[in-house]
Amino acid sequence: MFVQSVSLIIPCYNEEESIPLFLETIRPIADREPYRFEFIFINDGSSDATPEVLRAEHAKDRRVKIINLSRNFGKEHAMAAGFHAASGDAVIPMDVDLQDPPELISSFLRRWEEGYDVVIGVRRKRTADTCFKRLSAGLFYRFFNHLCGKRLVPNAGDYRLMNRAALDALNSLPERVRFTKGLYAWTGFHQATVEYDRPSRAAGNTKWNAWKLWNFALDGFTSFSTLPLRIWSYLGFAVAVLGFLYAAFLIVRTLFWGVDVPGYASMMVVMLVLGGLILISLGVSGEYIGRIFEETKGRPLYIVRDTVGFEAHETAGRADAAR
Ligand code: UDP
Ligand code: MG
Repeated sequence: MFVQSVSLIIPCYNEEESIPLFLETIRPIADREPYRFEFIFINDGSSDATPEVLRAEHAKDRRVKIINLSRNFGKEHAMAAGFHAASGDAVIPMDVDLQDPPELISSFLRRWEEGYDVVIGVRRKRTADTCFKRLSAGLFYRFFNHLCGKRLVPNAGDYRLMNRAALDALNSLPERVRFTKGLYAWTGFHQATVEYDRPSRAAGNTKWNAWKLWNFALDGFTSFSTLPLRIWSYLGFAVAVLGFLYAAFLIVRTLFWGVDVPGYASMMVVMLVLGGLILISLGVSGEYIGRIFEETKGRPLYIVRDTVGFEAHETAGRADAAR
């Protein structure tokens, strides 16, 4: 009988403690399901014992496959490596810290069997997150959906199931600045959601800090909206109109009442305000130019150092996919 297969995509960055815990939890769940599983771990340039731990797990269980990246590329790029290498009829990207509850896999698979292409895990409450993270995430979703036209499912993370068609669509997007949440939404497809409560990390520490989150948010906005650029055209137009009105007033006043020399305050105000506006608008354009620069360099999304557990032809395919 033909058995369909499911690939789990698990990016790992310094996760030596979490990996055995993760596999212990996931195995009984995978064994219950009528699918062939592969667990693709992407070692995102870890500096701890993650590669050794993964190798040991591969020796015990051939379903464990490993992609070692040549350095730390970040979670989004690590996931891209996994997506390119996945051979499953469905893929499920997951965090290794058990914050994506493995029990949910069964619910994902049931909805998939009902005919949905994409099944998205939605966090019911974000009690496990810090107050700061909840607040910033809430603001981000609000802003993003306003600026970029309501597309992101709020409180949906990477934890989801995609069928082969949805995955191929995602893999066909070549951009280097990878705001995966936005890319998922962009590809569309027939979607269902499953709600869950997100627990705290099982082991290890989060790799995110406020600065990384801010940069992530910037990548998100700039990849999906040119509104920040357009705002400056409108603002420039408004300032220009005011400027012309003021100029007309000055001309008329000078013609009828002559020159009056004092004017230091108004000159300074105009100069400072305009100078500030020009600098901000340059900065915003710069953000976009920087990203254009990133894209035009056309570098691969990630570099694979070596892989464990893949067939030779799969490895060859992946080298092309990265490009
Ligand atoms: N991760 C990664 N590369 C990085 C940072 C994180 O592969 O540069 C992985 C990490 O090992 C984990 C997942 O991405 O499996 C989520 O990371 P984390 O738990 O730190 O994020 P949070 O859950 O706090 O959003
Ligand atoms: Mg986590």
